[in-house]
Amino acid sequence: MLDEMILSALSDADVDGLVDAPPSVPLPAQVRIVRGAVTRAQVAGLQLPREVIFRWRDGRPEQPTGACVTFEDGTHALYLSVNQQPEELARVALHELQHLADRQGDPSLSDLERERRAIRFANRVMNAAGAWWA
Ligand SMILES: [Zn+2]
Repeated sequence: MLDEMILSALSDADVDGLVDAPPSVPLPAQVRIVRGAVTRAQVAGLQLPREVIFRWRDGRPEQPTGACVTFEDGTHALYLSVNQQPEELARVALHELQHLADRQGDPSLSDLERERRAIRFANRVMNAAGAWWA
């Protein structure tokens, strides 16, 4: 099951699709979900970059629903599609936050191990809390 999720996540590695999608404006509830994800990630011990820019996109179905990008000046942006259900948005935000944390961590982690960590982290936080995204 985990391996299937990893394969699907790795095949989503085309982050450019979402990054280049048209900007969009999230619903207030979507912003709340992502704020909740950040808070829960920090409570769970994730060391996030001091500044993360959130960018919302009108993502298409064939595109990934989340992506993170680190620019040459060292700033980080987390891209999220507005076109996803609350639970998926919560999970994707947690997944990408783990990726961001890992960018500051051990550079020797393989892509596979990074995916594993992101999927496991999102699962752990989603399973631990009540349905805070609802
Ligand atoms: Zn991932």
